[in-house]
Amino acid sequence: METKENVVVALPLMEDFYTIQGEGFYQGSAAYFIRLGGCDVGCVWCDVKESWDASAHPLVSVNEMARKAKDSGAQIVVVTGGEPVMYDLTALTGALRAAGLRTHLETSGAYPITGSWDWICFSPKKFKAPDDSVLEKADELKVIVYNKSDFAWGEEFASGVNDQCHLFLQPEWSKEKEILPLIIDYVKSNPKWQVSLQVHKYMNIP
Ligand code: SF4
Repeated sequence: METKENVVVALPLMEDFYTIQGEGFYQGSAAYFIRLGGCDVGCVWCDVKESWDASAHPLVSVNEMARKAKDSGAQIVVVTGGEPVMYDLTALTGALRAAGLRTHLETSGAYPITGSWDWICFSPKKFKAPDDSVLEKADELKVIVYNKSDFAWGEEFASGVNDQCHLFLQPEWSKEKEILPLIIDYVKSNPKWQVSLQVHKYMNIP
């Protein structure tokens, strides 16, 4: 990470691409993804383990990231990882907003959130407890269900988020056939929740 007078002006970038948001509240919407490198959460089922080592990814200036996102024609930028909140995201969100882009964050909430966000998707992970400050800021709670005990675990977070927060249950991809019927039954019995599927994987897009 590169700083200028304590402001983070460059961040490790694993990949960036314009696609369709496949999950959660904005599912189906065009969005430009900025995937930052670096994650210390350690989910056993992580499907982007190559993101974990920040040093494996080049430092790119936040202005360059914003320029590419703007040039794509996108209106929404999703900052994901890795775990983006490992970094001070003030300069990145400032550059994105200066370019007229909406700022969306996908995070496990492992650290307090910095930056200015139009939408925060909070997806807690069992492998590293989230910071308490994240719950009240979440616009969307997305619980990845890997086994039956994750329903009760997800309810603990649902009781801590704000009243407007949208609640989603999403099957872990490798166990979807086994878990999805359980999620369907659970949502029918607990309709404050909605089903989230990774529809980009059905569309064969990133
Ligand atoms: S928080 Fe995300 S990137 Fe990090 S290990 Fe978990 S799934 Fe992978």
